[in-house]
Amino acid sequence: MTERNNTCVASAMQRRHQNFMKLLELTYEDFNYDFSQVRFDKDVDSLVRIRCPRHGWINTKAKKLLAGRGCVSCNTESLMDQGAMIYIIRCFDSQEEFYKIGITTKSIEQRFIFPALMPYEYEVLSLQNGDRKKLYKFEALLLRLLKKYKYKPKKSFTGQTECFSNIEPIRKKFNIFDVFGIDSFKRAV
Ligand SMILES: [Zn+2]
Repeated sequence: MTERNNTCVASAMQRRHQNFMKLLELTYEDFNYDFSQVRFDKDVDSLVRIRCPRHGWINTKAKKLLAGRGCVSCNTESLMDQGAMIYIIRCFDSQEEFYKIGITTKSIEQRFIFPALMPYEYEVLSLQNGDRKKLYKFEALLLRLLKKYKYKPKKSFTGQTECFSNIEPIRKKFNIFDVFGIDSFKRAV
């Protein structure tokens, strides 16, 4: 094999790894798994190493991660079919104020219980239960509408890329605070 071919194979593998990591990130945003040791450079039957917050470091097949199983000791079934919640929260401290949109399969409290996960104070503006896949589509739409208001918080945390300085466009368009009122928040927790 020529050197050029080797380079091509290497970059294809790299892309494959990157796509795999992106999928993990999207699928498991709310699970606090550690994927830092994951190296996806073989096939889906190969083992990868992840850290579960309950079970520590475990080896699992790449295809099981792709199927949404997460930690096999925690989950006997795919997590994909489970419901989820889309939330909008207002985050603030004495210096900053912004809004965050996200999807979680846990309650908001569980999602942000550790200060490292949410280093700001927050107020829940809206919360809606639904099918995970549909909520991801809906979230993508909301994020697109808010694109020009993207905000980068000064303190870093998981999900900090979905923060915005203003949410007026979606408030008008979806009448979001009537539909996803505080009542649905109370029902959900
Ligand atoms: Zn586990």
